[in-house]
Amino acid sequence: MDCIFCKIAAGEIAAKTVAETAKTIAFWDISPQQPVHVLLVPKIHYENIAELSTGSPEHLVDLMQLGTKVAEELSTGSFRFTFNTGVEAGQSVFHVHGHITSTTPKA
Ligand code: 5GP
Ligand code: ZN
Repeated sequence: MDCIFCKIAAGEIAAKTVAETAKTIAFWDISPQQPVHVLLVPKIHYENIAELSTGSPEHLVDLMQLGTKVAEELSTGSFRFTFNTGVEAGQSVFHVHGHITSTTPKA
């Protein structure tokens, strides 16, 4: 499968990694839309949040826990954690990922 986020998770393509667990990788978005913009990607391929939540809830919990930890470390505590799902909602990479965005980075 030709999936950019599978390749980043496998270390085959470089990314600016922020944090990592056995199940999840967090890295800076290549085209940040906010002063803080980090992607949370499970190290298992599911297309979207709906498929991940039924297919591997343990990966979803791990992703949410790592995401909130990263958000608290990088921001002052105000942040968004979003999952674009489907083309019409703006999803462009079809390997599920959460966006952590914040306008208030920690100094
Ligand atoms: P989506 O539009 O699917 O919700 O989000 C995909 C995100 O992945 C976009 O914000 C885009 O900038 C980011 N992105 C796409 N390709 C790469 C890449 O190769 N490396 C990184 N770090 N981010 C990427
Ligand atoms: Zn993938």
